[in-house]
Amino acid sequence: MVKTCTSCNMQVGSDFIEFKCPNCSKHKIVRCMHCRTTARSYKCPDCQFMGP
Ligand SMILES: [Zn+2]
Ligand SMILES: [Zn+2]
Repeated sequence: MVKTCTSCNMQVGSDFIEFKCPNCSKHKIVRCMHCRTTARSYKCPDCQFMGP
């Protein structure tokens, strides 16, 4: 399955980080390196939690 960045919805290649939502810890947040370096915010699709 193809992973997409939670912030920008772009497909991620080999450079990305993945972590569980710090609020609900159910949904996995995927961030590409671009969004990570530019510190774009993400939003959990499950609980609507927003983080930096
Ligand atoms: Zn991104
Ligand atoms: Zn969540």
